[in-house]
Amino acid sequence: MREIKGRSNATASGTVHSAQARLGARVPGYRTIWRRAACAILMIVVWGVSSEAQRAHLEKVVQRRLLPNGLEVIVIENHGVPLVTAEVTVRNGAFTQTPEYAGLAHMYEHMFFKANREFPNPDEYIDEMSQLGAVFNASTREEQVNYYLTVSSDSLEAGLRLLVSGFLAPTFRTDELERERQVVIGEYDRNESSPFFRMEQETGQALWGSFWSRKNVIGDRDVILSTTPSKMRDIQQLYYVPNNSVLILSGDVNPRDGFTLAEKIFGAWKRGDDPFKKAPVPPVPALSATKAVIIEENVNAVTVLIQWHGPSVRADEAATFAADVYSGVLNNPQSRFQRRLVDTGLWQAVGVNYYTLNNVGPISVSGQTTPGRLRDGIRALLAELRASVEPGYFTADEIAADKANRAVTTEFGMERSSEFAHTIGFWWSVSGLEYYMKYVDEMAARTAADLQQYARRYIVDKPFVVGVLISPDDRRRINLTERELILMGGTAK
Ligand SMILES: [Zn+2]
Repeated sequence: MREIKGRSNATASGTVHSAQARLGARVPGYRTIWRRAACAILMIVVWGVSSEAQRAHLEKVVQRRLLPNGLEVIVIENHGVPLVTAEVTVRNGAFTQTPEYAGLAHMYEHMFFKANREFPNPDEYIDEMSQLGAVFNASTREEQVNYYLTVSSDSLEAGLRLLVSGFLAPTFRTDELERERQVVIGEYDRNESSPFFRMEQETGQALWGSFWSRKNVIGDRDVILSTTPSKMRDIQQLYYVPNNSVLILSGDVNPRDGFTLAEKIFGAWKRGDDPFKKAPVPPVPALSATKAVIIEENVNAVTVLIQWHGPSVRADEAATFAADVYSGVLNNPQSRFQRRLVDTGLWQAVGVNYYTLNNVGPISVSGQTTPGRLRDGIRALLAELRASVEPGYFTADEIAADKANRAVTTEFGMERSSEFAHTIGFWWSVSGLEYYMKYVDEMAARTAADLQQYARRYIVDKPFVVGVLISPDDRRRINLTERELILMGGTAK
């Protein structure tokens, strides 16, 4: 995907391009550790608003309707500036990928703004977009692929006509596929040039096992190199159906006009079978033992990434709310966690994150330290996590401060219509819109006991994967072994 401005280093990374489709990738790249952290920041930015009022406020702003073909339409009215963002989110992404399709959700995204029945020649689609003055982009994540454009409000109908053409009858021309294949491989090469990419890939493989292709957005180089138009068509027929998608209109549009236009233009898109009945997503295999991965690269500092299997939003929704508050409190610079780990000098920085997903979201704790402090740092970190389930670890004040922080930053997130459309699209795909509507109220209801129950169920004494990125010289000097890292966790079974 191309990057989404304002999402900092979040899952989506990059800049919004007009005309020129420099299709960036959603790339588990060197910033991943921080990408995860940033993902949490994104949520904090978007949710918020003083709690009680939140749901009622959203109900007023977010209008929904279901078209006869199964397409959900959401209109978010905001007349601040004369612009509208139209976004289609498809419930697709890495999670639908068998190993033979690893990376193809993203490859498909690259083929979207290409030839279709309406615009049969290369670049014609993109040229039409630019002529309309549209700013457009797309992105692929674990459990979402989105396509969006922003136009002046008087061009909304023309913009929607352009957008729908990519869904109705894409061509997947061989020459264009060849070209985009190189673009995607270029992204792959850029990722590989970062040592953090290797750490993330190897830690991810250890964490997800046979489910790895369903977490690996950038995918497999050979799969990308060998993909065919017929594989693109398979993806289209299975997943790119209105009943597996949502259309979001956000900005200077009134709901009545928005729904009318949506039905007029997207009503032609033909309903398909439920993709998840035809191709069910298998359960994520449990992590049965703690594992360690040491990645040697020429780096100065030592980077550590520890990951657990966290909750799945639809299986343990309450825990996902607790997870976000737990992370927020531990990341507060005043927290006991930060004081004991960072203020003491053991770590330069440590961040805790839960990435909300429907098919087991990872819990990540990541940080940087020096070779000399690595052992003490990891021991102290694991001890601190264990301590987090002891009575009195969380104070009511800390939890209240986390809520207040969310409230301060939220209004701001809803103010930018384009960002708000992306946020709604993400949650629609991962958890269903209802989850988003009640998020802030649910967060506000979490107690210390909820946070501790979450930590007990998912973190403390649970198997994890620890990845350590270190230079070969430093590793030799401190004689670091994977076995030793596993034993530190005390859960090596
Ligand atoms: Zn890309």
